[in-house]
Amino acid sequence: MKNIYLIDVTNRDGVQTSRILVSKLAKTMINLYLDDMGVFQSEIGFPTLKHEVNYINANLDLAKKGKIKNLRLEGWCRAVQEDIELAFKNCPDIKHLNISISTSDIMIEGKFQGRKTWKDVLDSMIEALKTAKALGAETVGVNAEDASRTETGKLVEFACAAKEYGATRFRYCDTLGADDPITIYEKIKTIAEASMIDLEMHCHNDLGMAAAVSLVGAQGAIESGVDAYINTTINGYGERAGNCDLVSILLALKYSHGFEDKIHLADKVDLKKSWKLARYTSYAFDIPIPIKQVGVGANAFAHESGIHADGALKDRRNYELYDPEEVGRGEPETLHTGRVITTGSYGGLKGFRHVYENLGIHFRGDKQARKILELVQYANLHTQKPLTDDELVFIAEHPDAVSKILTISPRIR
Ligand SMILES: [Zn+2]
Repeated sequence: MKNIYLIDVTNRDGVQTSRILVSKLAKTMINLYLDDMGVFQSEIGFPTLKHEVNYINANLDLAKKGKIKNLRLEGWCRAVQEDIELAFKNCPDIKHLNISISTSDIMIEGKFQGRKTWKDVLDSMIEALKTAKALGAETVGVNAEDASRTETGKLVEFACAAKEYGATRFRYCDTLGADDPITIYEKIKTIAEASMIDLEMHCHNDLGMAAAVSLVGAQGAIESGVDAYINTTINGYGERAGNCDLVSILLALKYSHGFEDKIHLADKVDLKKSWKLARYTSYAFDIPIPIKQVGVGANAFAHESGIHADGALKDRRNYELYDPEEVGRGEPETLHTGRVITTGSYGGLKGFRHVYENLGIHFRGDKQARKILELVQYANLHTQKPLTDDELVFIAEHPDAVSKILTISPRIR
């Protein structure tokens, strides 16, 4: 029996959401939370993008030091040789990449405007893949952008070539969110059976079916004898109508009638971390969680209308598929309504020490405290919003990593 692995792409596709900005410190916290939750891999960002480089290298260092334990950190690049070379020049320790190129006629004609043919696309992918392997990539996922509008025969050719040259996975991108469950299931089965390469589902939500098509695609892959990887984002954040939501996938694998016994996750993912992760990501992205969000929305366990409230009061199973505790809810949250001392960009030593003592962190002397205070001041400037308790603890425990994450030098040459 083959398995499903989760590759969360919040820190790459999620942050491409229009009109938002996520700090590098927040992206790091998201990686730490995903690791803690038991997610297999995080697509952490763009190793070719200058302002991501220090953040990526600092996160790779955190993994080396064991602060990030099991989460595999992977970068995204275009499948062109120059980008791969630049990625390794910027981030020499990166071991996992996903490389991407458009495969549909509509994109090849519309984006490359006659500069690239189908053969050029294949050649570019193969050259980029060979370069990535030669430069030390341990795993490479090869992405077919706009796969859902690409002929199946071409996808088979692309996936077989990727496998031949050493790719670890083939990423099927439903870039426009155009797929339906039946079509994607058939297509994935055809590609998987012909290529026998592990399949990655990357689905957008333009028709409201991202989670559904991701799951049936994964089922098609598993039934064909290859492992399946599902790309998710926290709270379904992503471009336009968003991506496939992480918590929806976890709950669907556990509770949907069709999947509960049929396909399962390779890793033990702790659903109880969902609430905290969703709330932090909402804070970091400055995007509220919709009231009806699966599992973590304010109304996910609310009952008001007469028949429903009566039924839920008699036995919650009448109207609830799963319990709030399963996604980490149900604990009371304290709201301080009296005097409060905070620390941040204009904070001083006394207030700073008070805040940290409440978090159980005591500094040896003023010198050490001043060093962390200065970092807290910069971190607050960097995130532009009050630092959370977990962020404050992380800053105190990993000052060198935080200092690197906060360092961005905009030199225009
Ligand atoms: Zn995408």
